[in-house]
Amino acid sequence: MVAGLLDEAAAIADFRRELLAWYRAHRRQLAWRQTRDPYLIWISEIMLQQTRVDQMDAYFARFVQAFPTVHDLAAASEDQVLKAWEGLGYYARARNLHRAAREVAARGGQLPDTYEGLLALPGVGPYTAAAVSSIAFDRDHPVLDGNVTRVLCRLLRLEADPRQAAVKAALIAAGEQLLEPGQAGDFNQAMMELGARVCTPARPRCGECPVARHCRALAELDDPARLPRKAPRKPRPHYQVAAGLIWKGDLLLIAQRPSEGLLGGLWEFPGGKQEAGETLEQCLAREIREELAIEIAVDECLAQVEHGFTHFSITLHAFRARYLSGEPQTLGCAAWRWVDPSELGQYAFSRADLQVIEELGFLSTGDNS
Ligand code: SF4
Repeated sequence: MVAGLLDEAAAIADFRRELLAWYRAHRRQLAWRQTRDPYLIWISEIMLQQTRVDQMDAYFARFVQAFPTVHDLAAASEDQVLKAWEGLGYYARARNLHRAAREVAARGGQLPDTYEGLLALPGVGPYTAAAVSSIAFDRDHPVLDGNVTRVLCRLLRLEADPRQAAVKAALIAAGEQLLEPGQAGDFNQAMMELGARVCTPARPRCGECPVARHCRALAELDDPARLPRKAPRKPRPHYQVAAGLIWKGDLLLIAQRPSEGLLGGLWEFPGGKQEAGETLEQCLAREIREELAIEIAVDECLAQVEHGFTHFSITLHAFRARYLSGEPQTLGCAAWRWVDPSELGQYAFSRADLQVIEELGFLSTGDNS
């Protein structure tokens, strides 16, 4: 049996040295790890909340090119921010980032340099506050994301469910004990990197692990991947959604979703969820009446797109439709516009609608025949 890592100061010192040496020799060259600019570190940590590192490069580059400083971000419109965030999902992150940038800019443009100061900003939770305060300002706060949770549960052989508040608190306390004072930035990044590249969810590469000799799960369990304990997954409901490509002559109708809630502030081809007993065509006509107070004729289905959200999934059926009568009103949307298809690229759409736009490539030429 491996002696409890947290019980011996010498073991903790060895652990830190071995982990940091491995990290400094093997860390990936990521654009947002090459900077000490707190603003850029903050942007990257907000993006990393729900985006995989290997998918983030292009999004990060595009966003910071659009808004190189906190003042540029604060001065932008919400539409511009959502457009630069387009494709990353979880758009509340972008809206909160924008709000927080305005707060920071109004106070002179310096990001708070403490955990508590960061935590007070919109969209900044304990993970982001710990990550930014340690990486940008070397404050001694351990991060606890999914990767670090997994590593700690295995190292310490924690069998309890890490989503429980008491277990989370125990993990943070363990992180505080293990953290190398004054080197929290590198330490936190090393723990996250270890979880992402070595101590992976299904098949940890224990043979390559720089801290294997401290690991209780490796020493005591047949399969360290049994930890952390996972709750059985709840089935996600699936919905059928109809959306209309509603033409009035050469122009298409698009609507902006209300600013709060799912996909808030994004533009879309209007429509909604099918209800029991109605066809998709009936659903679309009803939704358009309820959302925009206009009448349409629904023609054929042009595209079907599957899309998953955190708690449910959808099949989006995109129909060709013709405007018949009525002046659009913002009953269930924040705004609406008749646009030439060539202008669609100026608006921020959800991933599902972007897929429709891509599948119906003719939109970019304005050919609606
Ligand atoms: S020895 Fe294996 S299970 Fe333990 S921390 Fe390293 S990779 Fe993870």
